[in-house]
Parts: sequence; C-alpha cells; structure tokens
Amino acid sequence: MTEQSNSKERLEVSYFIEAALETEVSEDGKNKHQVKCQRCPSLIMKENIGAVKEITFDLPSMKKKDEQESGVEQIKHFWMVPDMFQFENVGFSNTVGNVKFLTCADCEIGPIGWHDLDSKNSYVALNRVNYGD
Ligand SMILES: [Zn+2]
Repeated sequence: MTEQSNSKERLEVSYFIEAALETEVSEDGKNKHQVKCQRCPSLIMKENIGAVKEITFDLPSMKKKDEQESGVEQIKHFWMVPDMFQFENVGFSNTVGNVKFLTCADCEIGPIGWHDLDSKNSYVALNRVNYGD
C-alpha cells in the first residue's frame, strides 16, 4: 500500500517537472514566469532571475516550521540564483554544513531550496514552487 502510493507520488512529481521544463523555461534557460510560494501568495522571484540547472540534491521534505523532519526527496532540477538580493522574498531555516535551507519568507514553509555558503549560489527546486504571470 505505502509503496504504491510512494511510486504514484514520484510519478506525479516527474510529470510536474516535465511540464515545468516545457512551460516555465525561457529560450535563454531562465524562469519565464514569476516564482511564488505553493502555500501562500508570496512572490519569491520575478521573471528571468533563476537559471535552470540539473543538479542532484537530497532536499529534506517540505514541512511547516514546527513540524518534525520526515525524510528527504532527491531533486534534480533547480533555479540557480547567483545573488541573494535577486530574490523578492526568501527566508532561511537551519544551516547544515555549508548549506542553508531556503523557506518562504511569509508562511515559512520549506525547504524550497538551498543556499551554498561557499559559492553564494542559491538553488530553488522547480517542483516546490508555483508559477504565475
Ligand atoms: Zn508562503
């Protein structure tokens, strides 16, 4: 039962990624539309800020601030943002090693991605945000 629902969920995630790669990536590899929080109306970044990157990263599962961690999800597609100040709204949660996890600045759901303290690059998971005009 559990295995079945897990593989169904994985299938839905890969469909979402494929759809996002089709409709959300501009000709120069940037986000075509605004990137927003999935839980609240907060604007994370404007159009043409993030560059799509294929990187494999184990991101902890999405949770609210006071919920317990419940595993990781291997994510392979991210919007890379080279400068924190290019975000409209983004928050930080905990730091693990040289990585700070990114959250929605308003509702604190996350992590929506991670910030690399060495390179200063930030990466927002394609499948953990919504897209708007
Ligand atoms: Zn939010």
